[in-house]
Amino acid sequence: MARISVIGAGVIGVSSAYLLARAGHDVTLIDAASEPGMGASAGNAAQLSWAYGDAMASPALLKHLPAIAMGCDPAFRIRWQLDRDFLCWGLKFIANTRFRCWWNNTQDILRLAEQSRHELAILLKETDVEFDYRVAGKLHLYADRQSFAAANSGVARKNALGFEQCLLTRVEAENIEPALAAYRGEIAGAVYTPGDALGDAAEFCRQLTAWMIERRRVSVLFGRRVSSFVQTGGVLTGLRFEDRDELRVDAAIVAAGPQIRSLISDLPEARDIRPVRGYSLTIPRTGLAPSISLTDVKRKLAFAAIGDRFRVAGLADIERPGAGFDARRFDTLKLAASAVLPDLFERSDELMRWSGERPVTPTSKPIIAASRRIKGLYINAGHGMLGWTLALGSARRVVDLFQ
Ligand SMILES: Cc1cc2nc3c(=O)[nH]c(=O)nc-3n(C[C@H](O)[C@H](O)[C@H](O)COP(=O)(O)OP(=O)(O)OC[C@H]3O[C@@H](n4cnc5c(N)ncnc54)[C@H](O)[C@@H]3O)c2cc1C
Repeated sequence: MARISVIGAGVIGVSSAYLLARAGHDVTLIDAASEPGMGASAGNAAQLSWAYGDAMASPALLKHLPAIAMGCDPAFRIRWQLDRDFLCWGLKFIANTRFRCWWNNTQDILRLAEQSRHELAILLKETDVEFDYRVAGKLHLYADRQSFAAANSGVARKNALGFEQCLLTRVEAENIEPALAAYRGEIAGAVYTPGDALGDAAEFCRQLTAWMIERRRVSVLFGRRVSSFVQTGGVLTGLRFEDRDELRVDAAIVAAGPQIRSLISDLPEARDIRPVRGYSLTIPRTGLAPSISLTDVKRKLAFAAIGDRFRVAGLADIERPGAGFDARRFDTLKLAASAVLPDLFERSDELMRWSGERPVTPTSKPIIAASRRIKGLYINAGHGMLGWTLALGSARRVVDLFQ
């Protein structure tokens, strides 16, 4: 039985620990925070987008890039950086906007999402974790005829791969989600995905960790930051913490999300991961809130009814690694959300504000691999916009590297 540590207790680390323990390993889950699910997983849009999976670098984004670069789209912000890593990442990202790359990347992501859905079904049978999981279905709302016409071919491609998706008029969409009658945004048409689900990612992390401690004897070390790796002749033998304390291990998985660069910046794998900051606002759920998940494609907003809460998430800010959040961006998000769903986000005393960084690669595909420099070290990071969706499939793939 190998002693394997997982560094990072976000959705990726917790899922990895769960499948490692199921495979019979002696697992220690470590996080710098005091409890699991406090990083990028904490306040995300909660979507389990089994049939979406579209890579971020796309031909559509390339067309829109001049407007983004000039600061004309409030949903995006780029802080230009004159460092080699940023330029390399940017050039690779742009190279991936070609249709062929985008579609290949998207298909790879969809396969990984399918693997996640399969693993989640097993987890739901095996454990009693509760995280407001629900097959809510999703509507992507298109504001104008041109973008809706382009969505048509996307749906045909997804249908050809076996995903259930269809095109709806506004009236048909309102029949599925009556709360849309009050939606102030333009709706030229919608794409309906009935099988997409949602769940609270942070609650998943907390509940599954508690279950693993009790039922799988997984050890946890929270409030402990790993600062470096102990190696002998290029083979990993231990982890060193900030306080210089050491833990002996046979192997480790780095699932440190956007912070991976500060831990293993000298490993080439980490350089392809950059933080892209997003924001969310959560309010108590009322009868006015849509029950189905919504994505407003033009405004890049995702709405989700999670248990007794209603959340809007959005914005994509490419910042310097380590830059904090910008409080003014909450106002940008609130303004955009209130423009389409007035009244809901008005009462600021009830708003829960959150900001987190998505760990994004130029391809939008995560890095799931053995380190090329340190034997015994594995990486499971870089899940970008879709980490919650891809968590269990990625965990399956990283655990399979140990067979
Ligand atoms: C606004 C927003 C909305 C999103 N919406 C969705 C969505 O609807 N659906 C979806 O699928 N995805 C969504 N995502 C993306 C998803 O949330 C992320 O991809 C995912 O949470 C990444 O998980 P992670 O476990 O890699 O990182 P994290 O959740 O950040 O976990 C990494 C953990 O590692 C720990 N750590 C880092 N360094 C160290 C160290 N040296 N020592 C010890 N611990 C360390 C951190 O404390 C942290 O807890 C969204 C993201 C954002 C920001």
